[in-house]
Amino acid sequence: MIERLNLIKNDAEKEIAVASSFEALNEIKVRILGRKGKMTQILRGLKDLAGEERAEAGKTANEVKNQLENLIETKTAELKQAELDKRLQSEKIDVTLPGLPLPVGGIHPISRVTDEIKAIFTGMGFAVAEGPEIETDYYNFEALNIPHDHPARDMQDSFYITEQMLLRTHTSPVQVRTMEKMAPQIPVKIIVPGKVYRKDDDATHSPMFNQVEGLLIDENITFANLKGILMLFAQKVFGEQVKVRYRPSFFPFTEPSAEMDISCVNCQGGGCRVCSYTGWLEILGAGMVNPRVLQFGGYDPEKVTGFAFGMGIERIAMLKFGINDLRLFYDNDKRFLTQF
Ligand SMILES: [Zn+2]
Repeated sequence: MIERLNLIKNDAEKEIAVASSFEALNEIKVRILGRKGKMTQILRGLKDLAGEERAEAGKTANEVKNQLENLIETKTAELKQAELDKRLQSEKIDVTLPGLPLPVGGIHPISRVTDEIKAIFTGMGFAVAEGPEIETDYYNFEALNIPHDHPARDMQDSFYITEQMLLRTHTSPVQVRTMEKMAPQIPVKIIVPGKVYRKDDDATHSPMFNQVEGLLIDENITFANLKGILMLFAQKVFGEQVKVRYRPSFFPFTEPSAEMDISCVNCQGGGCRVCSYTGWLEILGAGMVNPRVLQFGGYDPEKVTGFAFGMGIERIAMLKFGINDLRLFYDNDKRFLTQF
């Protein structure tokens, strides 16, 4: 009996040692220690033995059973560890590998042109000023010499919030706001980029668009200074070869007033569809600051003069990039936006 037990034990030890999977190990366990296993049969057969022999065989059988159970337990732990090691090895991450690239955004063409205009004028000593988009009737109209009954109010169909508050129709209110802060200091030399709002919506007008405004107040400022600065601006944006011309115009806040045209960027002045066969493109309004506006801002028109100009940034961007529909700027279509 003892011999049989030792035989079973030796065989089992060898089998357990070489078992390479949980299935194999479990099969050994069932075959030896299971309900119909070899060991169980032996233990059941003990009752047929005589007293002394039964006691000794029973003791050995229990020892062998315990040893084998321990061996199986140890082997199970070993297999678990091996499996974990294998997983750690196969799922190892190389942190030095380059990451997945994220799509990179771009600068919106309107921002690009705004930045370019800012750079040109700050290069000439202008500071950048900003103001509120919700504006009072006073700053948007009154202080710019546009009284209630003035026909110019019809030129700018507005979004009113209350009787006295509206979305600004131009960046010009910042002229008076800045003058009020600075008067009587000179020079005042600012550009004012920002969003403005009018009730317009077609291929060349949007209810929200961007303007940039310029204002220079100092002693002895003349229309010649204005022309010099705007010529330099036009050349920087549209190239050295660009020509400019001025046409008399009307704005309540400047006197005299003019509109500046540039030679067509498409045909260089020869005449084409872009310029309606005139050879010229209108790009901005300008003029000498109306003495009444200087007074509203706290300056003495007998001592200082100034000029102002304003333009739509979308218009400049459309001409610069050859875009024929302003609404494309606001469609958020990546196919369009990634071209710049
Ligand atoms: Zn043309």
